[in-house]
Amino acid sequence: RRAHYAALKSKPAVTRDGIEITLLHNSGLVADLPMLDDTGAAGVGLFRTELQFMIASRLPRLQEQAELYAEAMALAGDRPVVFRLLDIGGDKVLPYLRATSEENPAMGYRSIRLGLDRPGLLRTQVRALLMAAKGRALKILVPMVTETFEFLQTKRVIAKEVERLRRSGQPVPSRLEIGAMVEVPSLLFELDQILPEADFVSIGSNDLVQFLTAADRANPRVSKAYDPIALPRLRAIRMVVDAAERHGKPVTMCGELAGKPMEALALMAIGMNRLSMGPASIGPIKEMVLNLELAPIRAAVAEALSDGANGAAIRTLLTGWVEKQ
Ligand code: PEP
Ligand code: MG
Repeated sequence: RRAHYAALKSKPAVTRDGIEITLLHNSGLVADLPMLDDTGAAGVGLFRTELQFMIASRLPRLQEQAELYAEAMALAGDRPVVFRLLDIGGDKVLPYLRATSEENPAMGYRSIRLGLDRPGLLRTQVRALLMAAKGRALKILVPMVTETFEFLQTKRVIAKEVERLRRSGQPVPSRLEIGAMVEVPSLLFELDQILPEADFVSIGSNDLVQFLTAADRANPRVSKAYDPIALPRLRAIRMVVDAAERHGKPVTMCGELAGKPMEALALMAIGMNRLSMGPASIGPIKEMVLNLELAPIRAAVAEALSDGANGAAIRTLLTGWVEKQ
C-alpha cells in the first residue's frame, strides 16, 4: 500500500467532479519535514512549536528557536508552513516553567493565555519566527483564542516585533499572515468579529469537540461516547466554514478529525476544502479524494443536516456513499 500511495504523491488532490482539496501535514519536529516530499502534501497546515520546548530541559533560547524555524522553512521550500505559537500549559507541562497544579488544566492557564500573561515568552518566540523568515513570507497561528481581544493583543505584540526588526535594518517578512485557531466554543459566536481581523482560521477539532461535548479528549471512556461528526458538532464546524466564506478567508481543519476517512468525508461534505493531518493519513485521504464525486454528497449531507439527522444517520449516509464509489 505504501508504494501505491507513493504513486499518488504527484497527483493533485482533486475530486472526480473537479473540486480541489488542499492536503497538509500536522507536524512539530524538523525531522517530519522531509516527509512532505514523500507524501506530496501542499505544505504544513499546523506546526506545533511546543514540541521543541517539551523535549528540551530548559527554555530554548531565541537563537535556538530561530534555527529550528529556519530549518523547517528551508526543508519546506516553496510550500507554506503555518507556525502555531506556543500551546503549552494544561497537559503540556514544561518542568522548567513553574507549573502550578490546576483542577482543570485543559481549561486552565495555557496557550495564548499564558503567552499574553508572560509577554517575554511570546515576544521571544515571535522574534525568532521573524528572524527565521529572513524576509520571506511567514504564517503565524494563534492557539486557544477565546475572545477576539486576545487575538488583537497578540497581533499588537507581533506588530511591535516587526517594527523593531525594521528599525534595526533587518529584513521583515514579505508577507505576514496571522490566523486564529477556532477551538474554544465561545469563538464560534464571535466569528464575524474575528474574521475581519484574521488572515485565516484553523479549526482544532481535538479541543473544539472536547469543549463542545464537555468530554475530555484524553479520556476514551467519555470522549468515545460522542461522535465528532454528529449533528451538533458538524453544525458548529459548518458555522466556521460558512463564516469564513462570508469573509473570504481560508479555513483549514487541523485537528485529528481531518486524517480519518469518514470524518474527512464529512468535513468535505460540509464545504471544507483544506485538511491538515498526520503525514501517514495523506495517502489514504488523497486516494479517497481522487475517487470522490463530491457535489452529490454535499447535497445529500446538506439535506440530512437540515432534516436534523443524528450522528449515526450521517455516518450511515456517508458509509453508503463510500461503498457506492
Ligand atoms: C486541536 O485542538 O485540534 C489541535 C489541532 O491542537 P492540539 O491537538 O495541539 O491541541
Ligand atoms: Mg488544540
